Amino acid sequence: MLMTSTAFRDHEEVAFFRDPHSGLKAIIAVHSTALGPACGGVRFHAYGNEQEAIDDVLRLSAAMSLKSALAGLPLGGGKSVIIGDPGKDKTPALLAAFGRAVECLGGRYIAAEDVGMSPSDIAIVGGETRHVAGLDQGPAASGDPSPVTARGVWRGIEVAVRHRLGRNTLEGITVGVLGLGHVGGALAGLLSDAGARLVVADIAEERCRTVADRCGARIVDVDVLVGERLDVFAPCALGGILNAETVGQLEAPVVAGAANNQLADETIADALHARGILYAPDFAINAGGIVNVAAEIAGNYDRAAVMRRVDRIGDTLDEIFLRAAREGRSPHFVAVDLAQERLDAARAARQQTR
Ligand code: NAD
Repeated sequence: MLMTSTAFRDHEEVAFFRDPHSGLKAIIAVHSTALGPACGGVRFHAYGNEQEAIDDVLRLSAAMSLKSALAGLPLGGGKSVIIGDPGKDKTPALLAAFGRAVECLGGRYIAAEDVGMSPSDIAIVGGETRHVAGLDQGPAASGDPSPVTARGVWRGIEVAVRHRLGRNTLEGITVGVLGLGHVGGALAGLLSDAGARLVVADIAEERCRTVADRCGARIVDVDVLVGERLDVFAPCALGGILNAETVGQLEAPVVAGAANNQLADETIADALHARGILYAPDFAINAGGIVNVAAEIAGNYDRAAVMRRVDRIGDTLDEIFLRAAREGRSPHFVAVDLAQERLDAARAARQQTR
């Protein structure tokens, strides 16, 4: 990829790291530090090739800038990827080498957990740098962010259902949850407690069975869930699930879930809007995890205060949906504009103080 490509141009800094001794191949992308140090997860993934890894890290880091800005956090947007199979390649030596890479950036990037990494892996990274977050031990440790993310998504679904279906409760609402991992599994529990009917799918069959036993969910194949008769489709697996094909199949009037980068590309937001499907922008609804991590970075982690702040995700979505309805636009573009306005204001303020 050329340095002139749009994806690179939007970033403040993109650094590539190799450590032949441990086999580390990693990329750290700092999209914006306008609001504070760039914070985002470390994704350990067996990418097909380096270009795939570059595309992923650039897209994810830009989304982190929008997410933190929209959540009103004093954090910028960043993300990192370690290229490899976490099951085979993840060693203490490699994680330590990654920690030294994070340290090289002098605090402009704070590394947290993402797919393929656990709090104990982050603790090893933290042996080489203090610029880590999402630890499960220590005075301000915030632990697994997934239940907090799930709570924000649940609040967001409530608001989306009120806007699109005119219903003030989730009692009797049918929600399809795709992906029953850390977030999807917790979300299924919250929805079921709220009286929703669940239809679920995951490539991991035992996860489906566990949720079905716990929540009375109906299990369907991963390929058919999107076309089921649902009130809400909640994507909680990997990104790119909303594309020209799946949008055509969707029966649900609401899409609201935890997965990052749900839209295969931005034209899909317009396609959803044109079909009258209310889409809760992923970077708005799934901000619970970064809210949780931000409290740890601030050094005063208080779970009750974090949960109160996460409940405000519902208020943010309310504002986005109202403005989208007023302007006749997709909520995705309204959310991008809101976040961008905050980033631009922070950049302008920073330039004035220089
Ligand atoms: P996870 O790895 O625990 O769960 C993902 C689940 O999706 C797994 O059960 C997996 O079997 C399933 N899955 C994978 N591919 C699938 C497919 N093609 N079809 C159906 N199921 C599939 O991850 P998680 O932490 O629960 O995160 C889920 C999503 O939410 C990810 O996109 C993640 O980036 C996003 N997210 C997570 C958090 C968090 O706090 N963990 C915060 C913000 C966003």
